[in-house]
Amino acid sequence: MKKVCLSMAAAFVLVAGSSMASEAVHWGYSGHGGPESWGELNPAYEMCAKGVNQSPINLTDFVESELEPITFHYSGLATEVVNNGHSIQANYTAGSTIQIDGKTFELKQFHFHSPSENTINGESFPMEAHFVHAAQDGSLAVIAVMFKIGDENEGINKLWKQMPAKAGEKVAMASQVKADDILPKNRDYYRFNGSLTTPPCTEGVLWLVMKQPMTVSKEQVEAFTHVMHHPNNRPVQPVHARPVLQ
Ligand SMILES: [Zn+2]
Repeated sequence: MKKVCLSMAAAFVLVAGSSMASEAVHWGYSGHGGPESWGELNPAYEMCAKGVNQSPINLTDFVESELEPITFHYSGLATEVVNNGHSIQANYTAGSTIQIDGKTFELKQFHFHSPSENTINGESFPMEAHFVHAAQDGSLAVIAVMFKIGDENEGINKLWKQMPAKAGEKVAMASQVKADDILPKNRDYYRFNGSLTTPPCTEGVLWLVMKQPMTVSKEQVEAFTHVMHHPNNRPVQPVHARPVLQ
């Protein structure tokens, strides 16, 4: 009997940690596993403490430059909605890409933070979406979208109706949520180099933050916070010598 219980526990851990392979130490957004201690929780997380190009940041002191438009080819489908305990995430099939710097990045997933992780000129937003893309060489590009309180977002509405309430659960996407529904029409952006905002805080991530915020209703933000049980934003990190281009 004891053996059975142990293997069930192991299976649960596998499901709960599926987005972060073999997560040994629990990290979170408060208390012992909070952002201040991520770097000490696991040797693999050392960049969280040692990195000098960490995300998120307060975007300010913009450097004027001729940023090329990002080319979007979003034709893939979201296949599942995951509650990984740290966020609500929509996973994508292959086929959605962006092109920037002559390089192609494929959309892997998008997920949400509340309140926003990045801030713009010191302003925090009630919610921020991250569209995570990977190139063939493994390098990452994240498109961030800020949300302010206003009209309900249709795409988020569909997603919230399907989101699993419990951490570690995932469900098949029954009603398709398009990444395009969550992105602003105007795709002007700020650009800087940063990192993952969650352990292992890997650097070398290209950040592209949309200038035009979208709207979300107060109820939609509250529904997300209710399922997360806590804020899920890492505090802003030192900018050091990084320019924020616009
Ligand atoms: Zn994120």
